[in-house]
Amino acid sequence: MVKPFMPQLVYFEPKALEYPLGKTLYDKFSEMDLEIRETTSHNQIRNLPGDNDFQKYRNAKSTLVVGVRRTLKFDTSKPSAEYAIPFATGCMGHCHYCYLQTTMGSKPYIRTYVNTDEIFESAEQYMQERMPEITRFEASCTSDIVGIDHLTHTLKRAIEYFGQTNYGLLRFVTKFAHVDHLLDANHQGRTRFRFSINAEYVIKYFEPGTSRLVDRIEAAKKVAAADYPLGFIIAPIYLHEGWKEGYLSMLEQLAEHLPKKAKNDLTFELIQHRFTAPAKRVIQKNYPMTKLELDESKRKTKWGRYGIFKYVYTDQEQEEMKQLFLTHIPKLFPKATVEYFT
Ligand code: SF4
Repeated sequence: MVKPFMPQLVYFEPKALEYPLGKTLYDKFSEMDLEIRETTSHNQIRNLPGDNDFQKYRNAKSTLVVGVRRTLKFDTSKPSAEYAIPFATGCMGHCHYCYLQTTMGSKPYIRTYVNTDEIFESAEQYMQERMPEITRFEASCTSDIVGIDHLTHTLKRAIEYFGQTNYGLLRFVTKFAHVDHLLDANHQGRTRFRFSINAEYVIKYFEPGTSRLVDRIEAAKKVAAADYPLGFIIAPIYLHEGWKEGYLSMLEQLAEHLPKKAKNDLTFELIQHRFTAPAKRVIQKNYPMTKLELDESKRKTKWGRYGIFKYVYTDQEQEEMKQLFLTHIPKLFPKATVEYFT
């Protein structure tokens, strides 16, 4: 089993120490005997260890920056929620296809924000604007928040915060199985706890540093036992030799292990693999040995919302994927909802 993340190096922005969580984390990391440095701003972090970009990238992914979130304006987060709620950015995982490689550019270190009350106040305003409509907040747009939460407990606080709102719902997704500290959070059914799952082949070749499928399923069982609404994101759906058998076996494992109660309120989100030209460049730089298929000539182009073409599967391939999932999910999980395929 992949061990819970432990940074090798921790930076603190001085302002972070003005917040209770900042102080708590400082004391905690000091006691752990981790190397701690100070930085006026994460933008000033230039001297990460490593002789070349390749090493620096890997070291950055085991560096944690404890800071203050300055922008309290939330991005939108379609189709899974109305807004992205920012508690952290960056991830310790090494998924070859991860879009964070492009969006985080030269700053792939992990940042956690300690001004959680200010972030909650901002969420409150967004909820007020939409009342009496419910507002959904997605907490994993810029990180795998569960992956660091055993250290910060920020997500746990957020779960309890949304538990006592009337108009807000929280959702997040993870590839990590380290969920134990979240099981006793007072969620009031207002958080949908999702796991990102994939065929064994994809996890084995493209998701190093994350929990194995069996461990994610074990964690999902615990989450279901703690009465959280549960969901699965199957992403990226990636065509490889034997993909139909691989994905069917994944669904069957899930159906076999999940308790009946969990299957009564289950969501699935289906996202096919896609890439852009800048993403391809950065993937090949960061993971030069990857087996990930990034051949534009085999794909169809689709206009993306960031003003750039993305390469998705051909219409026929997409139909085959849909057919597989939309046949077997209803068979194995008759009460589940498939929220979207994209
Ligand atoms: Fe990216 Fe998620 Fe993998 Fe982390 S776990 S590297 S956020 S895809």
